Amino acid sequence: MRTVLYPGSFDPVTAGHLDIIRRAAARFEQVIVAVMHNPQKATGAFPVEERIELLKAATCGLDNVQIRAFDGLLVDAARACQVDGVIRGLRSTADTEIELQMARLNRQLGDVETVFMAATPAVMHISANMVREVGRLGGNLRGLVPEEIRPRVAEALRGKR
Ligand code: ADP
Repeated sequence: MRTVLYPGSFDPVTAGHLDIIRRAAARFEQVIVAVMHNPQKATGAFPVEERIELLKAATCGLDNVQIRAFDGLLVDAARACQVDGVIRGLRSTADTEIELQMARLNRQLGDVETVFMAATPAVMHISANMVREVGRLGGNLRGLVPEEIRPRVAEALRGKR
């Protein structure tokens, strides 16, 4: 596998996501981080454009990483980018159940192969949902999001409903 897609909502990108991106960038020739969104659904805490900007800022030293946005099915994004496979991170057994189901579905729908990367213990407890909650309540986001975007994420989340 040379080119891989790493899909997610990245609302916002966390230290856990960045760990997977860095490790994938060290193993594969090209990593395309795909911000998956559904224009019919609520926008989330960060608009898609801002999620992309935050991802770009967090990955600016990684030359083989690109950031793109997609709506629709993952298999269509994978086909459009002509990737060899998809990367997903596994944090827990709760993740595993749903991830296996999605991986099987994506093979059936579009012959897309999924590669799982085990979360690094130091960041395996981090989710974007938890970051949003801590940020809204004014908690310290150090270590939870990439350091270069921490002030911007903290500022955007503080006091948000
Ligand atoms: P979250 O679950 O944090 O909202 P996404 O839904 O955007 O994030 O997840 C995108 C991918 O990143 C999924 O494969 C998910 O398992 C993985 N991921 C999320 N957080 C972590 C983490 N802390 N460590 C490793 N992988 C993670």
